[in-house]
Formats: sequence, C-alpha cells, structure tokens
Amino acid sequence: MGVTVMKFGGTSLATAGRIRDAAELVRRYAALRPVVVVSAMGKASESVGKVTDALFSIAREARTGPRGRDAALSALAELEARHLSTLTELVERGPLAEGVQAAIAQRFSELRDFCIGVSLLGELSPRSLDAIAGYGEKLCSLLMAAMLTALGTPAEAVSAEELIVTDDRFQNASPDMTATTARSRARLGPLLEGGILPVVTGYIGATPEGVTTTLGRNASDFSATIMGAALHADEVWIWTDADGVMSADPRIVPTARTLPEISYVEASELAYFGSNVLHPRTIVPAVQLNIPLRIKNTLNPEHPGTLISAESPTSKHTAKAVTKINGLSLVTLHGLGMLGVPGLAGRAFSAVAAEGINILMISQSSSESNICFAIDQADVERTLRALKATFALEMLHHDIDVISAHHDVAIVAAVGRGMKGTPGVAGRVFAAVGQAGVNCLAIAQGSSELNISFVVEGGQAADAMRAVHEAVVEEGA
Ligand code: ADP
Ligand code: MG
Repeated sequence: MGVTVMKFGGTSLATAGRIRDAAELVRRYAALRPVVVVSAMGKASESVGKVTDALFSIAREARTGPRGRDAALSALAELEARHLSTLTELVERGPLAEGVQAAIAQRFSELRDFCIGVSLLGELSPRSLDAIAGYGEKLCSLLMAAMLTALGTPAEAVSAEELIVTDDRFQNASPDMTATTARSRARLGPLLEGGILPVVTGYIGATPEGVTTTLGRNASDFSATIMGAALHADEVWIWTDADGVMSADPRIVPTARTLPEISYVEASELAYFGSNVLHPRTIVPAVQLNIPLRIKNTLNPEHPGTLISAESPTSKHTAKAVTKINGLSLVTLHGLGMLGVPGLAGRAFSAVAAEGINILMISQSSSESNICFAIDQADVERTLRALKATFALEMLHHDIDVISAHHDVAIVAAVGRGMKGTPGVAGRVFAAVGQAGVNCLAIAQGSSELNISFVVEGGQAADAMRAVHEAVVEEGA
C-alpha cells in the first residue's frame, strides 16, 4: 500500500516531551506515508515506571479483596492523572483536548469496572489480565494521535482489537494473517485515502469474537511487523533508544557498536537469546513478505541505525554480536545406565513439552551419561516433577541416578554468520571466557553454525559477555 510502519517503544513515549519528539519524527517522514504503532508510556523516572507494569500490579492487587481493590483504584487514579497531565502538556485547551480528555476518562472508567469485577470474583484469569494489560497502548495511542493532530497532521487512534485477529491463547496470542490483512485494509485503507494517519495500539489483538488478547510481553515490535505484512508496507521502522541493533547491550558492554546491516536469521538469533531491542517474534511476518526492518534511535535520529533484511554482508568479524538471557535453570539428567539407551532424550523433551515448557538450549555430553537443558527458572518445579514421573522406573533401577536443577544461570550466546566455517572460533570464545575466570556449566553450538551458546552462573554472565565481545566481536578474524 506504499506505507511505512513506524513503531515507537515505551522509552520513546515516556513523557510529554518524548511523545512530541516522536510525533515530530513521524511528520519529518510524512513522504513515506507512516502508519504509527505505539507501546504504552514507559519509565519516566525512578518513581514513575512503565504503564504496563503498573497495570499488571493493579490487576493482581485487585484480586486480593477489598483492601487490594482500594489500592488498585488509587493506583488507577495516579495513572489517570499521569495521562491527563501529559495531554495538558501536549495539546492546548480547546475541542481537541476536550475530546481526548473524555476518551481517557472513558478508558479509566472501564478499567475501574474491570478492577471491581476482579476484586468481587477474587480471580484473575489470563483473559481478564489481557483485557486490563492492553490499556496502556490504548491510552498512549490517544495521546500520540492528539499530538500529531495538534501539530497539523490529522491522525486517529485505532485499537488493534479492530485489526489484528488472533487465537485465544491469552498472554501469548498468535495472529491469523489472512483475517488480519482483510480487517486492517478495510479499516485503515479509508483513513489513509482520506489523509488521516492511523496510530495503532501495539501489544494487543482480539479473537474473531472480539475478546481482547495480548501478543506477549513487550510484543509491540511484533505488532509492527504484523501491520507491516497486513499492509504490504515498504518498510517497518522500529524506533527505540539505542542506535540500532548493537554488537551487545550497550548497558553491559560499553564498547558495543551498531551493526549497520544484519540478516533476518541473525536478528532472530539475537532476539531469541535475549537482546530485548527486538521481540523474538518480530521477524516472522517480515520474512514472509521480505519487508526490510530498520531499527532507529529517537534520541539520535540522524544515525542510520540497523537495516535487517534477507541478506547481510559477511563481516571481517567472526561473531557479530553477543547476548545473554538471565533467570534460567539448568536441568540435568545423569546416570551411567543412560549410556546408549535410544529414545531417552526424546522422552525427556516430550515430558517437558507436554507441560508447555519451553526449552531454550540443549546439551548432551558425548559419553551420553548426561543430558542437560536450560529452561526459564519459573518452570523448574514443574519440569522436575514431570521428569521424575516419566523416569520413575529408570530411577528405581539406577539407570538414571540424578535429576537435578542448577538455579540462577544464564545463557550467553555469540551470534553471526561470520562464524560459519571459521576454524577455532569456539576455542577463542572459551579461552576468553576461561581467562575471565568464568566457568561454563554447559555448551551448545547451533546446527546453523550461526551461534555458539553456553551456560554460566547468572552473576558471571556480564563478565562472560565482555570477554567474548573483546575476543571475537571486536578483534575479528
Ligand atoms: P523499547 O521501549 O523501544 O521497546 P527496549 O527497552 O525494549 O526499548 O529495547 C531497547 C533496549 O534494548 C536498549 O536500550 C538496550 O539497552 C537494550 N539492548 C539489549 N541488547 C541490545 C542490542 N544488541 N542492541 C541494542 N540494544 C540492546
Ligand atoms: Mg521493546
């Protein structure tokens, strides 16, 4: 449709000033026919946090009965004040401001009803939580549309509940792209033709029956590529607070630098292994239609940022980036009786999968007397229970002696196409990690040869990242 989807993250919308800057950027690129996607307002200061986090705690608070309800309602009043005062800073008094003020008041009246409902029932289902959690985006889209309109670019806030059709897997819903494409075009086409810029909520969608769902925490990046695919956008731009995708999280590795171009596959690996600059599901809709993604910095808009597309240049650097995921547990099955028993690993992974638990990395020692894998720490009790039930007989016979978990570990991953066929990269990675005094608990190399990943104590992950960055990202081959 000859449009460019531009998504702004919460940090880029945390205050009135940031919202104004974002709107100015949208106006600067008016020739690209922007369709805007927004997150909820982010953290503005030490005492004013992310709106979505506040909504989660409000919902949980409301569940705990009358006292919790009162606390939830007063937290809602604070959130309402934050949005109303932002509006006052953005838009002068007049009909536009009054209309948006009424819309904000309406949203908060709905939120209060939800909280009272949750408190009366004493229950917060994933479905109710989704209904509440998506309000941050609805509120923020009203503010952004008002700002654009006030600056002279007519804009309309549109809830993605009207556009993105999903299944009913609350908190982690997936889009039906055929239905989403039809709805998005039907709803946004006339706006665009009429010269009205749509400001769409990130994070949320709705089932075909119209029940609100969310696409996963921090999934507004995913919303942006869903809209991009639905509208056959020329490009999708993700505006954030870093100069594109960098060779490491700059907060952890000060020498990190921007990667000017990376491939979809490399971006997926980085997102999968915890680089929160992109939500892991973001790439999928873009790949299917070959839509380029650009990651740019709202604080430094002249910087070209990162272009993500099908191809990436091979760099002289062996690894392009290093990343980590904290908060994991390493589960180990050990026993001499495991030696050469076919299907044991398969049964272990099926048992875990049957619980709906995601395995992030697997490592099997060549002696086959031990298998270990990394999972989210929150899933550890359920995992151990499932494994002990599955292998009760093997444990009785001492074919498996130990099923245990090592808590608070992290996966560190080096990612990049340059590692393929470069001899000795693994050696350099582990030599550097060893020199930094970090002990590897398990190692895995992806079959794509696009990454080397290993597990370390959570507290040593940052040191490991800096060591790997210095050895194989900065030095190169
Ligand atoms: P937004 O609110 O725009 O969605 P996020 O906080 O989700 O922003 O993502 C941007 C942050 O991701 C950056 O501030 C940076 O600290 C962090 N980050 C982690 N890994 C990387 C990386 N490889 N490149 C750039 N930023 C990264
Ligand atoms: Mg983000």
